[in-house]
Amino acid sequence: MMNDSRTAIFDLNLPGLENELQAMDMPRFRAKQIFQWLFEKRASTFDAMSNISFADRARLAARFTIFTGEMVRRQQATDGTEKVLLRWPGGGLTETVMIPCDDDYTDESGRALVAHRRTACLSTQVGCPVGCAFCASGLLGFKANLTVGQVIEQAVRLTHQLEPQRRLTNIVFMGMGEPLANFEVTVAAVKMLMAPAAFGISGRKITVSTVGLPPQIRRLAEVGVPVTLAISLHAPNDELRRQIIPWAKAIAMDEIIAAGQHYFQTTGRELTLEYIMLDGLNTLGEHADQLAGIAKRLRANVNLIYYNEVPDLPFRRPSGNTMLAFQPQLRSRGVNVHVRQSRGRDIAAACGQLARQDTAQAAAIPATPLTL
Ligand code: SF4
Repeated sequence: MMNDSRTAIFDLNLPGLENELQAMDMPRFRAKQIFQWLFEKRASTFDAMSNISFADRARLAARFTIFTGEMVRRQQATDGTEKVLLRWPGGGLTETVMIPCDDDYTDESGRALVAHRRTACLSTQVGCPVGCAFCASGLLGFKANLTVGQVIEQAVRLTHQLEPQRRLTNIVFMGMGEPLANFEVTVAAVKMLMAPAAFGISGRKITVSTVGLPPQIRRLAEVGVPVTLAISLHAPNDELRRQIIPWAKAIAMDEIIAAGQHYFQTTGRELTLEYIMLDGLNTLGEHADQLAGIAKRLRANVNLIYYNEVPDLPFRRPSGNTMLAFQPQLRSRGVNVHVRQSRGRDIAAACGQLARQDTAQAAAIPATPLTL
C-alpha cells in the first residue's frame, strides 16, 4: 500500500471533524452529515455523499481517507460467524470477527420476538505482546499498536457486511492484542462506539477484555466509559497462571483482584472472569474451588470457554464431561457461571485462533518487544 498523507477520517470524533472542516472553510454542520453517511448510510466514498456539493466532495476526498486497510479476505463459517482479514499500511495483519445470534424471547405483553444480536470482536494490536502459551495471536509476538481509526474501521467493515436492516449491537475487545496495553486508543475507540453520531452503542454492550493490568484497570474506572470489564484469568492461582501467561510473572493475582474491586466500586459495573479450559491443566476440582473463591471476592460472573486447539501447541480441549463436572462446583458456591459456546471454529475465528493461518505472512514483519 502506498504512503498516503491524508487524514484517516475514522481517527476523528465529531468535534474533531467539525474543527477540521472549519479549518477548510466548510460549515461545521457538514461533519454531522458526513458521519451520517459513514455510520448510518454505510458510504464508502465521499462521492456517494449526495447532499454535499461536487466541489466539496472532491476537497474532502483530497483531505481525508475513509478506509486505510485493505480487505485481504472475508470468510463465513457454517454458523454464520464472519471473519475479515485486514492488511494495514506497513503490512500488519489483523482479524476481526462478527458473531450473529438470533434469540427468541417474549416481551412484557407476552409477544414472541426475536433479538438479532450482532457482536463485533475487535483487535487493538497487530499480534500480541502478552504471549499466552495457548494462544495463536500470542505466537506472533507484538508487531504494532492499532490507531483509533483502525479499530473503528474494523467495526465499519463488519457493518458493511450486514443486511441493511441489521446493525452492530454488541462489541467485545477480544480480538488480537491486549486492549489496555493500547490504552488511549482503546478508550477513544470505546467513546466513538458509544457516540450517538457514530455507532451509538451503550457502554453496557461493550466489553473490554484484559489479561489484568492493575494500573490501567484503575485508570479505566476513572475515564467515564462504563464498559463491562472482562479479566482473562485462565488460571486460579499465581503459580499456574505464570506457567501459561508470561505477564503474570510481574503481576500478582491479588493486585488484579484489588484493581477489579476498585473498578466495581467506582463504576458499579459487574466484572466477568474469562477462563479458558485447558484439559487436565486448569480443569481439576481444586481449580474450580480456587476460581470460585476469586469470583466471590470480585463478585464476578465466570465464563468458562472451551479451548480451541491450535496446531503445534500441546494444550487440549476438555470433554463435555469435564465441563459438566467443573461448572456445578462453581454454582454450588453461589457463582454465576456460563459455558461460552465456541463460534466460527471452522474458519479459525474462535477465541485464541486468530491470525494463525497468516502467521507466515505476519512473521515477515519484525516483532517489536513490548514489556510492562
Ligand atoms: S490470549 Fe489474549 S492476551 Fe493472551 S496472547 Fe492471546 S490475544 Fe494476547
